[in-house]
Amino acid sequence: MRSISENIMQVRRKVDEAAARCGRNGEDVTIIAVTKTRTPEAILEAVKAGLLDLGENKVQEIQDKYEVVSDAATQMKTFVNWHMIGHLQRNKVKYLIGKVYLIHSVDSFRLCAEIDKHAKANGLIQDILVQVNAAEEDSKFGLTVDETPKLVEEILIGLENVRIRGLMTIGPLTEEPEETRQFFRMVRSMYDGMNRDFSHERLDMQILSMGMTNDYEVAIEEGSNMIRVGTGLFGPRV
Ligand SMILES: *Cc1c(COP(=O)(O)O)cnc(C)c1O
Repeated sequence: MRSISENIMQVRRKVDEAAARCGRNGEDVTIIAVTKTRTPEAILEAVKAGLLDLGENKVQEIQDKYEVVSDAATQMKTFVNWHMIGHLQRNKVKYLIGKVYLIHSVDSFRLCAEIDKHAKANGLIQDILVQVNAAEEDSKFGLTVDETPKLVEEILIGLENVRIRGLMTIGPLTEEPEETRQFFRMVRSMYDGMNRDFSHERLDMQILSMGMTNDYEVAIEEGSNMIRVGTGLFGPRV
């Protein structure tokens, strides 16, 4: 099995190649190391190799690892950005605010209002992405393509301490990455449309979070600038 740093080099090379295929620069694609189920030791290996964006899908895991990993990063004279990429329950929001750089999984006004409330109490503006379930799979959280602009509008009108930075989607589970392309394209097109149609001080759409180990190359070809990679960096989850 390859080491984590060898895996990182390979992912970076594939990112560069995918970006080059569509006239972009691989450096414009943020690689989030998805660290769910990984030990602090494994995570710090990725941090040492320069991956400073870490993604978790459970609040508990962020709470468990936040301090030890962030402190070790500080000792290395660097810092990490934590990303909440998984489904978020409203009663857990309070544990995240002040810790996470970006919440990728906003899929309802009620959840966003809770984020807003705790951001306000902490005197900060929380950056968020709206999660789109483009394939409309029952098993996935997120809004349909039709529901998304309406939620964005409600957030902009009703909430003051969140800033919408873009959209996130999870490609449908399939062995064949090409099958995900149409959904990435759909979300990209919505992202472009929202950039065109909305103008607001708390809408700063710069981030398209699409692509995981199986499909990040297709996602980048379709415009993704933030990919979430776990297995491809750390090996199979145990
Ligand atoms: C686990 C997870 C990933 C990473 O999945 P891999 O297939 O291991 O790359 C990406 N996004 C979300 C939301 C996840 O939960």
